[in-house]
Amino acid sequence: DVACDWSSDVCSSDLDELDPERSEQVFEDFKKAYTANQAIVEANRCLYCSDAPCITACPTGIDIPSFIRKISTRNTEGSARTIFASNILGMSCSRVCPVETLCVGDCVFNEMGVPPIQIGKLQRYATDMAFEKDWTFFEAGADTGKSVGIVGGGPAGLAAAHRLRRFGHAVTIYEKRDILGGLNTFGVAPYKMRADAALSEVEWVMSIGGITVEHGVTIPETHSWDDLLGKHEAIFLAFGLGPDTRLELPGSNLDGIVGAVDFIEDFKLKAMDLSAVKQAVVIGGGNTALDAVRELRGLGVPEVTLAYRGAEDQMGGYAHEWSAGKDEGVISAFNLQPVAYEGQGQVDGLRVVRTDADKKPIPGSAHTLPAQLVVLAVGQSKLGELVSDLDGVETKWGRVVTTESGQTGHPRVFAGGDCTNGGKEVVNGVAEGRDAAIAIHSMISEA
Ligand code: SF4
Repeated sequence: DVACDWSSDVCSSDLDELDPERSEQVFEDFKKAYTANQAIVEANRCLYCSDAPCITACPTGIDIPSFIRKISTRNTEGSARTIFASNILGMSCSRVCPVETLCVGDCVFNEMGVPPIQIGKLQRYATDMAFEKDWTFFEAGADTGKSVGIVGGGPAGLAAAHRLRRFGHAVTIYEKRDILGGLNTFGVAPYKMRADAALSEVEWVMSIGGITVEHGVTIPETHSWDDLLGKHEAIFLAFGLGPDTRLELPGSNLDGIVGAVDFIEDFKLKAMDLSAVKQAVVIGGGNTALDAVRELRGLGVPEVTLAYRGAEDQMGGYAHEWSAGKDEGVISAFNLQPVAYEGQGQVDGLRVVRTDADKKPIPGSAHTLPAQLVVLAVGQSKLGELVSDLDGVETKWGRVVTTESGQTGHPRVFAGGDCTNGGKEVVNGVAEGRDAAIAIHSMISEA
């Protein structure tokens, strides 16, 4: 294990350790940042609605009209403070949130046939400025002598850690990887945010001080639940999801068949040579599949096919992401069921059959999609079994069950993020981490 105390500089080497050759760097930012003048012009379009639907649409409930108004009056520092007061990962959320289906999608201008306010870009303008100017708005509270253990250093864990430090509780994050940030660091499509930006945010969050991180920890193997409950007044579970789900078909042991989450992490953190791949197939229809097809095109694969078992309008991924994928030349293959991987040692094709409207195979429809790389984006396993011997903590379909405030059936154990919601957005993890921290604070303050 490596223990890092973020009140010192010991852990600030994460950024320095990023591979300078990592492949994610070929991607350009897909939404250009606003200049100061562009931000002010856009901010001045806002109606500052009193009953603003954009606030309700934001899982962290940022006071959007207020932060936009502050940009319009050139009070960018005040604007950033308003954002971070609700969402300490407001910088990454401004880049990775599906704003089209959240705040921007609910802006009143949509009803008037007028382009909605570009809330994400305005949020990015204010939060980028905060990082550039090194504005930090929050200090750790007076030491309470109490401590909380957090299992997992992704968005939910970081949001909880920061809020708990503001209350004055000591925090230890138990993280199995050697870097923090979770999917923000190794899973976000690089045209939205690169790993270096995610790690800069981690450093900024950790600069509140007093958060200890133990890396290389796998619970309950390296630390039992009893150990953690003995050490801390409360535990917050934020361990996310498990490995990619595999499709066990004939040929599964061939080289060139990878899970989407593994594939994305590999090219984000390392150099990846795809020069031998002329054709790739991604299996799935959710947002991870849509990220993967766009990433493969961006990495230079000439022919990328999205193979989905249902019809186009049945895909779970966001329509705006799929529309961008089509614009980037992704080929679609709908109503298909994979039946085997083909090849000798290395995969060279995916055998599929067509399916009817009820997703039943159509006889005589088998054919092969040529592919030197097959990426599986059919989901990730749930890690509910990790808590099977934690008294009182229940799981359902592999997810940890909690109350609205994040409390499990064990009074001192709370949970949030993907391990409870099954895999939602970064902003959901931030909201759940923050709210659980507030609930933990009230529980341990009363004890
Ligand atoms: Fe501004 Fe649109 Fe929100 Fe109204 S709904 S406050 S116009 S961003």
